[in-house]
Amino acid sequence: MKCSSCKNGNLERGYFEGLFACHTCSNCGGDLILLGDFLRWQELNPKADLSVEAKVDVVAEDTSRAMLCPLSGTLMTKYRIAADTEHRLDLSPSINAVWLDKGEWDLLKEKGLANKLAEIFTDHWQRGVREEETSEVLEDLYERRFGENYEQVKAFKSVLQAMPNRQEVVAYLLSD
Ligand SMILES: [Zn+2]
Repeated sequence: MKCSSCKNGNLERGYFEGLFACHTCSNCGGDLILLGDFLRWQELNPKADLSVEAKVDVVAEDTSRAMLCPLSGTLMTKYRIAADTEHRLDLSPSINAVWLDKGEWDLLKEKGLANKLAEIFTDHWQRGVREEETSEVLEDLYERRFGENYEQVKAFKSVLQAMPNRQEVVAYLLSD
């Protein structure tokens, strides 16, 4: 099977870090993983530790271009991993196969998300990423607007939100 990412290598059957079945490209080092294989492994090894002990400099390659699934030949869909990275993973929706570019698994491990490999592709996860991103954007905006007072304003906001008569307090604050 030809690698549809680099278009130069062959995908060879193997075991992903000795854990579950995968196909690895002989040229670019990318991996194709069937989510079913991953989930079966996870079910048998619920306590497996996929975290990294020491922070390593993760260099994950980023494919921004569209990619065809090497197995089904259909277009793969890109999914965000988290709000703090632009990095996206490719999923072949018809057969639930994930393409990991070289380094992407290390990136997931570094972020503590390796055991969430299947969850990342759920609507729930993707909604979470978008919501987190929106709140980060807002946070940024307020920080610029309120400057050095922002932390105090934020702290007072949470005090205010806990007060049943907050309308009154706001009126008091705005009165001369
Ligand atoms: Zn390749």
